[in-house]
Amino acid sequence: MEQKDDQKMGKKDSKHFLTIADTIFSPIYPVIAEQIVTNTGIHSGTALDVGTGPGHLATALALASDCTVHALDCSPDMIEICQTRVSEKGLTKRVIPALGDVSEIPYGDNTFDLIISRGSWFFWEDLSKSLTEIYRVLRPGGKTYIGGGFGTAALKEQIVAAMKEKDSDFETGMKERMTSRSPDIITSTVEKIGVTNYSLINDDSGIWLMMVRE
Ligand code: SAM
Repeated sequence: MEQKDDQKMGKKDSKHFLTIADTIFSPIYPVIAEQIVTNTGIHSGTALDVGTGPGHLATALALASDCTVHALDCSPDMIEICQTRVSEKGLTKRVIPALGDVSEIPYGDNTFDLIISRGSWFFWEDLSKSLTEIYRVLRPGGKTYIGGGFGTAALKEQIVAAMKEKDSDFETGMKERMTSRSPDIITSTVEKIGVTNYSLINDDSGIWLMMVRE
């Protein structure tokens, strides 16, 4: 089921997220992009960033690799912001923003060598359908790096402290979101959709699902 219009991030929330991603969160994106390239071993090809928001991880991956990155989000306001950022960075040939929902990814089967996503799956209504869609658009041999986290323990500590100054409920909200994507829930969902070649990273970098398309 697609995210309903009133659940999508509107202009105000999108601009607020952009400010945070440009400031407090900004050091995490190059770190996570390097971790993606190192852990997947994928340096080139066609990538997809699901729930890209303003596109910080998509642009960081484009800079850390030779990949062309399609940057997908279900919020038209986020995509508009992402388009502006990508143009300002001179990356229009490497990062391609696109409007669409993870439950109905607007690309054909076997399209991507790498599918990444950070901080978005907590909002996906149907994890099983979303992962099935992601697997469908992966090429044979393609890999995913999907999850949430801040890259390192030090960055997490720094960001949680800064966010708590803005919003005293930030840490509680973050922990609540994490319980909806626990290792048990992720593992049972992946097994339910019949994917056998996968692994889970659950360490100081965050929690990340690496599926490999057979
Ligand atoms: N990945 C970005 C980052 O780490 O900076 C943005 C993370 S933001 C917390 C979550 C993003 O996921 C939002 O931009 C939201 O619109 C998007 N999102 C939520 N549900 C989605 C869905 N069903 N399909 C596509 N995007 C979705």
